Amino acid sequence: MTALKLSNVCKSFGKVEVLKNIDLTVEEGEFVVFVGPSGCGKSTLLRVISGLEETTSGDIDIGGRSVNDVPPAKRGIAMVFQSYALYPHLTVRENMALALKQERKPKDEIAERVAEASRMLSLADYLDRRPSELSGGQRQRVAIGRAVVREPELFLFDEPLSNLDAALRMNTRLEIARLHRQLGASMIYVTHDQIEAMTLADKIVVLRDGRVEQVGSPMEIYNNPANRFVAEFIGSPS
Ligand code: ADP
Ligand code: MG
Repeated sequence: MTALKLSNVCKSFGKVEVLKNIDLTVEEGEFVVFVGPSGCGKSTLLRVISGLEETTSGDIDIGGRSVNDVPPAKRGIAMVFQSYALYPHLTVRENMALALKQERKPKDEIAERVAEASRMLSLADYLDRRPSELSGGQRQRVAIGRAVVREPELFLFDEPLSNLDAALRMNTRLEIARLHRQLGASMIYVTHDQIEAMTLADKIVVLRDGRVEQVGSPMEIYNNPANRFVAEFIGSPS
């Protein structure tokens, strides 16, 4: 089954074309990494997939259904941002429960899902704290937990480690890999870090200036870069 299919997706802001004819598929359960230099359109691509931005043209299918006219909350996806985007006045528990409350899920089910996600992410002891009382790594885990409780078909991560220091980056990266194995969900992970891409991905999508430059497994891309740009970006031996 295909989790996500983009056909000829274009996005412009005014006269500026940011995404140019993007064709792409993500298979069910696949971990796909979008990699490319700053400004190449990675975040815009995620925002278009999530529905936070409309496409200028092209089609987006999620789980075999066209979602061009489906609002973000109904696309079966959850997004984790670089900035965490937690509500400062809410506790960890309330931050994680919020989307489920808005969906009017039963109270027991909300409590159960929050408890399970907090166990998975080692947050069980922090449920009554506010974000200001947590470390950066803990805040990022809450942001991930907030996605996990929604049980999405597809997770979108936008440079989730870029605000963490080196040791935490490594830990959180392993945690995201474990979560992927545990949940079996499809994940798209954006980074400008080649090492992150090489270690996490089933499939890497190299973006450059709003276009897909190459798609392949980490080894395919490393051993057989399509061109010099990819070779230099990924760090293939010349
Ligand atoms: P990346 O995430 O790869 O660093 P972005 O997707 O954030 O790149 O941005 C790609 C390009 O689109 C940049 O040139 C950026 O200035 C432009 N852009 C992004 N969002 C907007 C917007 N809302 N309005 C105008 N231009 C935008
Ligand atoms: Mg970005």
